[in-house]
Amino acid sequence: MLRLITDFDGPIIDVSQRYYQVYQFCLEKTKRSSQSVSPLAKAEFWQMKRACVPEQQIATISGLDEAQAKQFAQLRRETVHTQMYFDYDCLAPGAVDALEKVQLAGIDLAVMTMRREKELEYAFERYDLERFFPKNRCYCLSNEYVKTRDIDDKPLLMERALSELPPAIDTWMVGDTEADIITAKNHHVKVMAVLCGIRDREQLATYKPDLIVQDLSAAVDLLLLHPSFFGLDDADSTEETTE
Ligand SMILES: [Mg+2]
Repeated sequence: MLRLITDFDGPIIDVSQRYYQVYQFCLEKTKRSSQSVSPLAKAEFWQMKRACVPEQQIATISGLDEAQAKQFAQLRRETVHTQMYFDYDCLAPGAVDALEKVQLAGIDLAVMTMRREKELEYAFERYDLERFFPKNRCYCLSNEYVKTRDIDDKPLLMERALSELPPAIDTWMVGDTEADIITAKNHHVKVMAVLCGIRDREQLATYKPDLIVQDLSAAVDLLLLHPSFFGLDDADSTEETTE
């Protein structure tokens, strides 16, 4: 059995509009009523998130002072995963088609995400995604879980997955952040980083994933068209070498 473990936010869900709405809300909430600020356009904001610019720096660039920037970052942390803002999420282009291809190819599919159970279920229902991920292929946080940092929490999910899932001939992981790449590499799982999420190429490259591709579609196409990526004999490439 071959297995693909995919992160959720980034490869499957585009969270950029949620993050931007929360940014605008926090800026408005934190500034004094008489204070004029300089809100970033969405493209500028998202580019900064992708370049891993710290929240407090985004706040000061937007016109808040240092003390306000701290408040802004705190409020942002408390707000970004609240229910009303999840409505701003949308499907990443091509993600559902890619998941259908994986399923059709008989590849074992699991999801590994820093979402809490209820947050994952909400998106599953909204986009009819449950059909791809039975309960025993969902690795997410419990509703009561107190998050620390993705980089500390995600490996715990990976340890659970590797101990619970039936053995696979080969496993790839797809994700859009350093937490995904570090987690996979520390557990000897091959990892493709996607550019359609919250980190740009330069950030992703720092952590040396096995491959960097545009999105989940490109990741899946590579695996399906080049069985050698999956640790399988590639009949086509054997033919090519005899010509
Ligand atoms: Mg992600």
